[in-house]
Amino acid sequence: MAADRIGFIGLGNMGAPMAHRLAAAGFRLVVHDKSGERLRAFREGHPECQAADDLPALGRACHLVITILPDGNIVREVLLGESGVAAGLKPASLVIDMSSASAIGTRETAARLAERGIGFIDAPVSGGVKKAVDGTLAIMAGGDAGTIDRVRPILEVLGKVFLTGPVGSGHAMKSLNNYLSAASLASAAEAILAGRAFGLDPARMIEILNASSGRSNSTENKFPNFILNQAYNSGFGIGLLAKDLRLAREVAVAAGTPDTLLCICAEVWQEAAHELGDLADHTEVFKYLESMGRLDSRGRTGNGA
Ligand code: NAD
Repeated sequence: MAADRIGFIGLGNMGAPMAHRLAAAGFRLVVHDKSGERLRAFREGHPECQAADDLPALGRACHLVITILPDGNIVREVLLGESGVAAGLKPASLVIDMSSASAIGTRETAARLAERGIGFIDAPVSGGVKKAVDGTLAIMAGGDAGTIDRVRPILEVLGKVFLTGPVGSGHAMKSLNNYLSAASLASAAEAILAGRAFGLDPARMIEILNASSGRSNSTENKFPNFILNQAYNSGFGIGLLAKDLRLAREVAVAAGTPDTLLCICAEVWQEAAHELGDLADHTEVFKYLESMGRLDSRGRTGNGA
């Protein structure tokens, strides 16, 4: 294998369409996923992409490796574990981690790679599966600005690049974004449930919210496309969002900033993920809160005066 290929690890809901865009743009990929099924499915559609025998072999074949995996611990294990990618990467190679991962853990991963002369950028994404397919993701890139500029033509196949600062800042930004996203979805769900119980029509409520100050991505996108139609198929697992809230909390604790609402929000999503299972779609939080309402109302006096 020639060493000018891009290693791409993680062919899940986000990774597969992102790798597809890179392959379609003419980049030569060496792909890997621990799921044989996902690897096979991707390679069936992209016979020009190679698969490596193991992770060090992928490292040896590439100067640039992109990871988009469930969390930062998995990223660290894939890169730096025994028989990880770093065992094959040459000095002056670069890793771009596009997963949503711990900002603090990421600094440690970057430092350990730096000991081997390997560069690191954290470049997590927002926009969900649809924007991964369209190549319109928001990419939050932390790390050396010159290095980010060098890989800009690759990243711009996937979306719009925003520089966030030093290594780890992309992951911090992403987790804080997802805190706001999770808070708005859970609070919109509570508002819709209260309105519906009061006799309002949920579809009409969404229409009014979207013409009013309560609108958000949750009311403009998630309610019409995944919740009101009961499709619950956004492609973003609730376990991943619960993880993002833990990571946002980690950032707030490290910074020593207020986190009262963040703690409540993280707890709601943690419990929802526990009840529904990590693989449930995150939009199913609506069903979870609906079931909570039924439980609550049993013991309620109904005196709202
Ligand atoms: P996913 O679960 O669909 O995909 C993860 C992939 O990683 C799977 O194919 C899995 O087999 C693979 N994997 C897990 N452990 C591995 C290992 N040790 N070695 C190799 N492959 C391994 O998740 P996703 O929705 O694609 O999300 C990926 C990342 O992107 C997560 O960090 C998530 O938080 C983030 N993200 C997801 C969305 C979304 O809408 N789905 C949006 C923005 C960011």
